[in-house]
Amino acid sequence: MSGKSDDLVLVINSGSSSIKYQLLDPESSAIAASGMVDRIGEPNSGIEHHAEGRTVEHHGPIADHTTGLKLVFDMFAETGQDLAGAGVRAVGHRVVHGGEVFYRPTLIDDSVLAAISELSSLAPLHNPANVAGIVSARKLLPDVPQVAVFDTAFFHGLPDAAKTYAIDAKVAAAQGIRKYGFHGTSHEYVAGAVARLLDRDRLEVNQIVFHLGNGASASAIRGGHPIDTTMGLTPLEGLVMGTRPGDLDPGIVPHLMRSAHLDIDQVDELLNRHSGLKGLSGVNDFRELQRLIDAGDDASRLAYEVYIHRLRRYLGAYLIELDRVDAITFTAGVGENSPQVRADALAGLSRFGIEVDPALNTAKSRVARHISTPGSEIAVLVVPTNEELAIARAAHRIVAADG
Ligand code: AMP
Repeated sequence: MSGKSDDLVLVINSGSSSIKYQLLDPESSAIAASGMVDRIGEPNSGIEHHAEGRTVEHHGPIADHTTGLKLVFDMFAETGQDLAGAGVRAVGHRVVHGGEVFYRPTLIDDSVLAAISELSSLAPLHNPANVAGIVSARKLLPDVPQVAVFDTAFFHGLPDAAKTYAIDAKVAAAQGIRKYGFHGTSHEYVAGAVARLLDRDRLEVNQIVFHLGNGASASAIRGGHPIDTTMGLTPLEGLVMGTRPGDLDPGIVPHLMRSAHLDIDQVDELLNRHSGLKGLSGVNDFRELQRLIDAGDDASRLAYEVYIHRLRRYLGAYLIELDRVDAITFTAGVGENSPQVRADALAGLSRFGIEVDPALNTAKSRVARHISTPGSEIAVLVVPTNEELAIARAAHRIVAADG
């Protein structure tokens, strides 16, 4: 293992049926171990654990998050990393919704955990899973400080005009309805990396970031502070995603309930799991979508066109909101790996000072880089995101400051 184990932070990202984790050094960013528990609660659960150049697997039913994490700890021991014994410096948890309550990385105690649990009404698909991960990790590592890092935190200070939905203000206030925004850890991390790449102070840079993964969001950031973002009260709003539709006429929901007799859980399921690229083409994975398009599949071609159309709509909006833009950046699975999406999103915009260099755009690279022409007024960049590292650093900072 690189570094002493007490320099390391264990980062946990638990979903409803999965736990992704990484043990890493927040300073050097070296990864000591990583893995994923999959299909928790189903008969065919599994774990894949990578450490010390080895991969260890577990197959068989895993009833809940605590059982999954316990098995992960056994695997750490098997690869020579006794987490409970040697101790790690901190555990950093990705928590999806911080509501109005949490907008900084926060040391978890019983009252913080209760508050995260209470916020489940705003994120019923996400916060309960995050709580399960925290409860399990506290049980297994009772002496290690646990820190929550919130996906909404970066967008807490959005301007009122950008965060307010035009519905009955009393209803909105009573129900906590506002634009919260998500993927904040990634947008903040990438925005910082952009400033370094441009060799400018973060607070001077105006930029647009496209986080295009299975979930997708864009943000407009002025001088280090976000002034708008595409996701809203929930991660459903905005761009077209793998399985979520992004923007919709809200009238579609009552229409479906009245005409198709769907109940609220069925609508939720339709919007969260069977819409977006998957709803239009049958697949949510971008590589599969590209293969289907290449094979001449019309539904997949349309899905791609809807995806790009939505990206460009927000690009136009954010160019106007920001007025002066220094950089447009692509990140996450699709953003980092699909030159086609980057080219199509920014095609024909030289009159706005945006020119992608085809050779730079298609060159294979895993590092932060320019893909615009030297004459492009607005720099176009690809910056790999690293949410785990950002969470590890935040957790480490909090623990160090706490003494
Ligand atoms: P993420 O959620 O950031 O892990 O991104 C997942 C998405 O990135 C999936 O839709 C993948 O198909 C997509 N992706 C990963 N690698 C590539 C690639 N080489 N070309 C296009 N899409 C990719």
